[in-house]
Amino acid sequence: MIEENMNPFLTAQKQIETAANKLQLPQHVIEILKRPMRVLKVTFPVKMDDGSMRVFEGFRSQHNDAVGPTKGGIRFHPSVTEDEVKALSMWMTFKCGVVGLPLGGGKGGVIVDPHTLSKGELERLSRAFFEAIAQIIGPDKDIPAPDVYTNAQIMGWMMDTFSRLQGSYSPGVITGKPLSIGGSKGRGEATARGVVITVVEAMKQLNKPLHEATVAIQGFGNAGRNVAAMLSSLGSKIVAVSDSQGAIYDAQGLNLDRVMDLKDHGSIRDYGADHLIDPYELLELDVDILVPAALENVITVENADRIQAKIVAEAANGPTLPEADDILFKKGILVIPDILANAGGVTVSYFEGVQNAMNYYWSEEEVNEKLEVMMIDAYYQVNELAKEYKTDLRTAAYMKSIKRIVEAMDARGWI
Ligand code: GLU
Repeated sequence: MIEENMNPFLTAQKQIETAANKLQLPQHVIEILKRPMRVLKVTFPVKMDDGSMRVFEGFRSQHNDAVGPTKGGIRFHPSVTEDEVKALSMWMTFKCGVVGLPLGGGKGGVIVDPHTLSKGELERLSRAFFEAIAQIIGPDKDIPAPDVYTNAQIMGWMMDTFSRLQGSYSPGVITGKPLSIGGSKGRGEATARGVVITVVEAMKQLNKPLHEATVAIQGFGNAGRNVAAMLSSLGSKIVAVSDSQGAIYDAQGLNLDRVMDLKDHGSIRDYGADHLIDPYELLELDVDILVPAALENVITVENADRIQAKIVAEAANGPTLPEADDILFKKGILVIPDILANAGGVTVSYFEGVQNAMNYYWSEEEVNEKLEVMMIDAYYQVNELAKEYKTDLRTAAYMKSIKRIVEAMDARGWI
């Protein structure tokens, strides 16, 4: 059996190499693309409610700013590592490139389980981390946003911390903010909306109706939950969902209102003992659409052969390992890669930045229309490249993106 490397940094490097080799880029250019240009590691104290001090560690990685300021979320999770944050920043560069945003890639992370903190502790931690990285952050430098276990409220605290440091209102420093302080309409659902737009196009290509299509979703956070709601409103049957506590399945289709209610006021496990399944089983269900919407490394050589879905739409970043990708491609499964499928989030983040700069705000319809145009355009451009180079959508998405970044690096005289 092939030994797989689960380090996301090495996964990102492998994906870049595959696409760069197809484009026959010189080695020194590949070397630039394979590493972040800057990584800041910070250690900072936070006062806990009981008066004690706890010391936390966090990172901010900036991969490449050839086409514009770096951009990407901040994750609060106990399993955050420097290599993970580096990989996530690399994926952001290519994600922005796929949709053609004038932004590079960045990502941040703090090693913490936010569920163990009180609201006050969470606020102090969010402000302390932002202050610790503030020197390399700014609307023209690097613009954070929400990611795993961070939300609009946290973005609000961070924006406030930065504005106080600057001595002036600086909404453009971060996106995913509450609407009352410069957030964009539609940003909350944007990642899911983007995923669903690509799934709709993929189903058209496969000549399969979305109505009655069966769906399994791993992860019930901002992305997973909204994908479930949107696909269900298009007539698809959500047969399985999971979160970090467990997984539930009903071949007849889950009652989504109940699942949402349980998620908000308890655990989805309470859906009923006879509906509980092993979370790993969810990935291998015989469904039309599988949506990994949690963390990295869930589709591996170990289970790739058993995946039965026709479409895998990656709402999560980095869910599929390179060797598993090859297996899925050979099996004829259509994988809509993360850097394309979940690009809706950063696209509306970009719209948020544009609205902040104009200090003029769009209606939700306007935001959603613009998002749809950009996602569909990116989807078909990637498909064209995949056809031309006889490759999978992931490699084609990287190729589209790399071409653009290399052009910018060349114009700047970096290569
Ligand atoms: N964290 C999201 C992502 O992985 C959004 C990033 C952003 O909006 O800047 O794409």
